[in-house]
Amino acid sequence: MNPIYAALPTTIFEKMSALARATGAINLGQGFPDAPGPEDVRRAAAEAVMDGYNQYPSMLGTAELRQAIAAHYGAHQGLALDWEREVVVTSGATEALAAAILGLVSPGDEVLLIQPLYDAYLPLVERAGGVARLVSLTPPDWRIDTATLEAAVGPKTRFLILNNPVNPTGTMWSHADLAMLADLCVRHDLIAICDEVWEHVVFEGAHVPLLAMPGMRDRCVKIGSAGKIFALTGWKVGWMLAAPAIARQIAKAHQFLTFTTPPNLQAAVAYGLGKDEAWFEAMRAGFSAQRARLDSGLQAAGFVTLPSSATWFLSVDLAASGIMLDDEAFAERAVTDAGVATIPISAFYADAPIRSILRLCFCKSFETIDKAVAGLCQMRTKLI
Ligand code: PMP
Ligand code: GLN
Repeated sequence: MNPIYAALPTTIFEKMSALARATGAINLGQGFPDAPGPEDVRRAAAEAVMDGYNQYPSMLGTAELRQAIAAHYGAHQGLALDWEREVVVTSGATEALAAAILGLVSPGDEVLLIQPLYDAYLPLVERAGGVARLVSLTPPDWRIDTATLEAAVGPKTRFLILNNPVNPTGTMWSHADLAMLADLCVRHDLIAICDEVWEHVVFEGAHVPLLAMPGMRDRCVKIGSAGKIFALTGWKVGWMLAAPAIARQIAKAHQFLTFTTPPNLQAAVAYGLGKDEAWFEAMRAGFSAQRARLDSGLQAAGFVTLPSSATWFLSVDLAASGIMLDDEAFAERAVTDAGVATIPISAFYADAPIRSILRLCFCKSFETIDKAVAGLCQMRTKLI
C-alpha cells in the first residue's frame, strides 16, 4: 500500500495552539497579538476589497507595494533597492522562505543552520534535498563563536540561513557578529537567506540587515513580513529582497507556490509601510510595556527570565527557577495545571536540544498576562 509518508513533522505551534483551543487555556504559545491591529491599515484593506482590484495581481507583487517596500527600507535601513528587479512579494515570510530554499538549494547542497531554529527551516531544506549543517547558540546570551561556525562549513556548504532578530530567543545579532557572519559568507562563497521578520519589533538599538554588511549585497536574501510589522499575523503578506539574479531565481519558485498574494492586502500594506517613525516607536513602546508586565510578573512569582531585546517572546529558565521538569513536560502540564499554553524551546532543535527553557508570548492585554502569570505562579508553587 502507498504509505502516504513524508518526513514532515507537526509544528510545535500547531500542537500547542490545538491544546489551548481544546482546553480553553490562555495561549502564550504561538506568537500573535490579541489586539485587532492598526485600524487605518485594516480600513485600507477593506476599502481595497470594496473599491480596488480583486483579480490576480502581478506575479512579483503590485508595483505599488514593491515601490513602497523599496522606499520603506531606504528610509528605515538605508538600503538602495531596485523595486522592479530586487523585490518580490510573497504570501507571508513562510512562502518567501519556501521560495528561497526551493529556488536556490539543490540536492546535496549543505545549508548552515543555527539552533534553536525556526520551525520551517529544516523541513524545507530537507524537502529541497539539502543537507543541514547544524550549529547551536549557547544560552543564556545565545551567542556562537567564529570557530564553531567555521568548523561546520565544508566544501559543499553553499547557504547560511540566519534569523535576526532571533525567534525563539528574543535576541539580536550584534554588529560584530554580523560582520563575522558576512566575512564567513564571503570567504566560503555562501549565500545568506536572512529571515528578518522581527526587524521592527526591537527594544534595544536598531536592526542592521546582513545585506548591508560588506560583501553581502550580491549574496544575500532578505525576508520580511507585514504580519509582524503591523501585528496582523493572519494577513500573510511577506516579501524577499535580493540582487536581481537571485531574486529572479526565487521568483521562479514563487510562481509555482502561490504565484501571487491578495491584491487588497498588498494595497493596505503599501499604505502602512509609509507610516512615520513615530508610529513605529509607539508600536514598539506598546509591546515593550507588555514585555515588562510579563517579565516583572514572572519574576515576582519566582521565575527566572532571560533577557529579551526583540520579538514578542520572553524566555523562562525552568531549572534556574527551581523547576526540575524539562521544558516539554512543563509545557504539557502547564496547559491543564496553569491554564497556559507555552512553547518548549527544545522543539526548535534537530540535535542536542536545550531542555530547560520555555518561550512565552507577551503581546497580550495586561489582564491576560496577569491571569497567565497567576496560573503559572500557582503551578510553580506546587512543583517546588
Ligand atoms: N520567520 C520567523 C522567524 C517567524 O517568527 C515567523 C512568524 N512568527 C515567520 C517566519 C512567518 O511569517 P509569516 O507569518 O509572514 O509567514
Ligand atoms: N511564528 C509564530 C511563532 O513563532 C508562529 C507561526 C506559525 O504558527 N507558523 O509563534
